[in-house]
Amino acid sequence: MTASLTTESQFRLGVFAARAFALAGLYAALGFVAFDSVAFAQPAANPLKSLQIYFVDVEGGQATLFVTPAGQSLLIDTGWPGNNGRDADRIVAAAHDAGIKEIDFVLITHYHDDHVGGAPQLAERIPIGTFIDHGENRETTDEVTQKRWLAYQQLLSTGKYKRIIAKPGDTLPIKGISAEIISSDGAVLPKALPGAGQPNPACASSPQPPADKTENPRSLGTLITFGKLKILDLGDLTADKERELMCPVNRIGRVDIYIASHHGFNQSGSAALVHAITPRVAIVDNGATKGGSPSVLDVIKSSPNLAALWQLHFSEEAGTAHNAAPEFIANPSGPDAANYLKLTANPDGSFSVFNSRSKQSQQYSAGS
Ligand SMILES: [Zn+2]
Repeated sequence: MTASLTTESQFRLGVFAARAFALAGLYAALGFVAFDSVAFAQPAANPLKSLQIYFVDVEGGQATLFVTPAGQSLLIDTGWPGNNGRDADRIVAAAHDAGIKEIDFVLITHYHDDHVGGAPQLAERIPIGTFIDHGENRETTDEVTQKRWLAYQQLLSTGKYKRIIAKPGDTLPIKGISAEIISSDGAVLPKALPGAGQPNPACASSPQPPADKTENPRSLGTLITFGKLKILDLGDLTADKERELMCPVNRIGRVDIYIASHHGFNQSGSAALVHAITPRVAIVDNGATKGGSPSVLDVIKSSPNLAALWQLHFSEEAGTAHNAAPEFIANPSGPDAANYLKLTANPDGSFSVFNSRSKQSQQYSAGS
């Protein structure tokens, strides 16, 4: 599937892209390394009309930056703390690449280290408008989680930021996209979204998982609609909650882009979710040794409508048998290179995914 995709997409890139590739090749041959990779990467995109989504590499945490055509921005999670602000620096670099100088909304899915941990460092580096979260920390017995929660509370107590505590069914006040809350603080959408609600055959073969007691099932999950495209991000929502949402009927419906839950870790990403939402593209924000479980990658790859699986890292655990092909991986094994993936979405439903390592992008046509 991946080989034919490459051929098809290269064909679809058309004359402009062919020239861009040729130019890029020429520049590379001449030793110019600083050609405009963004312009090169998105030949069909118009920044005034497209939605840009950066999958920042925070080494197995989450940091996903959305920049709407209206110039508004939404960051889902802030990566890890520590490392001299490594993750915050990477997020700020993505923001600058997108041409923004502040982040309007920072959505914290839950209070684990790899999601809220980087918030104080980020706030030191770039202005933030509003924080969005699920409410209280529910894992107070975990020392690290409690520490990160308190640091986040301290940030909020400065009075510099607005705060929204979101519930399932709420729509976030972001211009240029519709962002509807699917899950929050352990509650999920009580009924199917308009047009959804079909019986889900994947439930029969999907066992009932045990209830997860951590912050993960409290994750603030969001369905983002941009024109004809639907993009799903459920944070680290676990399989027990996936079952509540998806069985016996699919309350979400179909999506185009699935931001793989929980970094592709095998406590999440069940077939009951993935095979019912039938994404065209899945993007896994795994680290080299965090997330990217072989069984989860296999569930994604066997999803009925999948065109491509993308990963931030080659998963060491999954090996070559389960990982995506190299061109769909931002960071292969080896030294920390911080390569990111960037998705550029158009309102007609077409989109592209750019790999900052290879400087190549794959095009996905509208409605395929
Ligand atoms: Zn996580």
